[in-house]
Amino acid sequence: MITVGSESVLELDGVTRRYGGMTAVEELSLSVADGEFFTLVGPSGCGKTTTLRLIAGFEEPMSGTVRFGGTDVAGVPPEDRNVGVVFQNYALFSHMTVGENVAYGLNFAEPPGGVSDEERVAELLELVDLSGTQGRDPSSLSGGQRQRVAIARALAPGPDVLLLDEPMSALDAKLRERLRVQVREIQQELDITTIYVTHDQEEALAVSDRVAVLNEGTVEQVATPRDIYHRPQSRFVAEFVGDNNVFDGEVQAVDGDTATVAVSEETLRVSLGDWRGSPVSVGDRLTFCVRPEELAVGSGANRLTAGVTSSEFLGETTRVRLDWLGQELMLRTREALGGDVTVGFDPKDARVVECRT
Ligand code: ATP
Repeated sequence: MITVGSESVLELDGVTRRYGGMTAVEELSLSVADGEFFTLVGPSGCGKTTTLRLIAGFEEPMSGTVRFGGTDVAGVPPEDRNVGVVFQNYALFSHMTVGENVAYGLNFAEPPGGVSDEERVAELLELVDLSGTQGRDPSSLSGGQRQRVAIARALAPGPDVLLLDEPMSALDAKLRERLRVQVREIQQELDITTIYVTHDQEEALAVSDRVAVLNEGTVEQVATPRDIYHRPQSRFVAEFVGDNNVFDGEVQAVDGDTATVAVSEETLRVSLGDWRGSPVSVGDRLTFCVRPEELAVGSGANRLTAGVTSSEFLGETTRVRLDWLGQELMLRTREALGGDVTVGFDPKDARVVECRT
């Protein structure tokens, strides 16, 4: 049995997993802190589930190391890794009651805290806000309730780490939003290290302490939700997480922390303050992005004249698509717009994500 130490870190160090000629995860390194809610997000097929399975022990890496609390767990079977796993489909046993389903989690381990199985089941059902449902048939529960039973079952033996693989993908949008808040509350109440897999970037930003954005089996960026959103470090992250306007141009001048960039027929000024890549020089190709909510109608140091092509009323705001010299731009506004408009942004609101010499 692996017991995670107090600073309890889970690490993947240069882990690679292939299936035939297909590389699912390549040289992937991650480190998760004790009590952290850590989310793996990325498009379909980027290696999220494979990474979770490598942590759980359902797969072994072809190279690289998985460590729990500093100990290499190569060859340690899933049942000895002290992890609780919840999959996307409810995977409850339909021939068992809710209580028996939760108690199933205790088949391979004693309940923690010296309590009886019945007491532990009642404790867990209370935690997931389903007190008194022990005798019910899982089929009589809603999708969200069933997923909470699955979480209770995974938590019953008191695992060190909770692994959740798209636990809400079968639920409708409103229920997903409610359940993600409940999952976060349960995680915080138990202070349990949690790895959460989702392809939904909004969900990732909403619940996590830190987010790892994966792309084609590798890590693009690991950061807090705010930094992932406001300080993307690659074009992929900038475009995958939320809407973004991406500009590409040639550097004309560099003045301290500001670059002047020729994009199409305009000259735009861009802050380099957050850029952590190679030094930017005249003649380099620079890619930077500006969030739709940072583009303002009629203000900003950089001005662009564009034509409105479509508007989507989203309630709180309207997403307006614009054509600017053949490039599509997106803007978030409360105003109704039409025809030609001038939109602008300040250099500090532009994030550089790539510089090529
Ligand atoms: P999704 O969001 O669609 O679930 P994912 O990010 O979880 O995707 P993985 O399931 O980890 O991605 O798969 C990564 C790649 O590895 C995919 O191209 C997938 O087809 C491939 N793959 C995963 N498991 C296997 C397997 N058992 N056999 C063959 N190929 C596999």
